[in-house]
Amino acid sequence: MSTEPQIPTTMRAVVMNAPGDVTVETINTPRVVKPTDVVLKLAAACVCGSDLWPYRGYEPVDHRFMGHEYVGTIVEKGDQVTTVELGDFVIGSFMLSDGTCEICEAGYPSRCANAGTYTGSQAQYMRVELADGSLVKVPGGQPDDPDKLADYLAASDVLGTGWYAAVAANAGPGKTIAVVGDGAVGLCAVLAAKTLGADKVIIFSRHEDRAALARDFGADIVVAERGEEGAAKVKELTNGYGAHGVCEAVGTQESMDQALASVRPGGYVGFVGVSHDQTIDGLNLFFHEVHLEGGPAPVRRFLPELIKLIQADKIHPGKVFTKRVPLENAAEAYKAMDERREIKVLLAV
Ligand SMILES: [Zn+2]
Repeated sequence: MSTEPQIPTTMRAVVMNAPGDVTVETINTPRVVKPTDVVLKLAAACVCGSDLWPYRGYEPVDHRFMGHEYVGTIVEKGDQVTTVELGDFVIGSFMLSDGTCEICEAGYPSRCANAGTYTGSQAQYMRVELADGSLVKVPGGQPDDPDKLADYLAASDVLGTGWYAAVAANAGPGKTIAVVGDGAVGLCAVLAAKTLGADKVIIFSRHEDRAALARDFGADIVVAERGEEGAAKVKELTNGYGAHGVCEAVGTQESMDQALASVRPGGYVGFVGVSHDQTIDGLNLFFHEVHLEGGPAPVRRFLPELIKLIQADKIHPGKVFTKRVPLENAAEAYKAMDERREIKVLLAV
């Protein structure tokens, strides 16, 4: 095992003690355990929309270390890690993957046969298992520009997830894509659909700040109506047919119903909002001829392409971070997102 000497024995990490109760604790710094692990010194982390489920009491939580989005520099490396080196600045996804099983090779590393989930990136250091299959090096190292750093951090989850939604919604030239959800993922789905060449992108939104960023990301039309009225509006904009594809980026019954009501027969729905109490009516589905694909996004599949787009200044997904606070102020970050005062908050480490 190769090690740089300066890893401190303790570090600061964000913990959710109970719903609505977020603090920062001093704990032991993680170290390499398995030969396929690395330890990262994090450059930035952030609060995810999905962190709000336990924060609001919709998921049980009891002293959980938080965070699954990260960019950082490798400071310790197991003996069997070969694709990344000490000192590399890397991005990883929220799902760990080996990169070698048939599921990974088919492009679904988020469902890797040896996959693991990770939590604990809202901290100064983190251990990443399966480093070879999970991490992608950013050429040129950690950027000095904080906006660029935010762009790379966004690629770790919200951009990668929005990208998957747009790919699953079959976004491309000649297509009209509708996006349900104006949170960071929905906004990134707009950016993705447009970057993938969609002719027209429609987003459902009633929040002027979010709609403004959606327009900045390439949205052509903002629809304030919901439900049947909202679906009627999408049909009106597509010669009565409905959207070619819809990105569902919320995870509620209402959002899935909106997606299915807005897509044309033979169309595509990419759903990436973490599902909470959704059911889909079989008969409705039967008569829809709809292609449905979704789940935890295989972000690792898209990272090399996303890194290139960011390096070339083609996309600026870091704009979803409307606020930046020090890691120590994590409680403030959660509160701002919970109250929907901010779209997404970056934690500077
Ligand atoms: Zn795999």
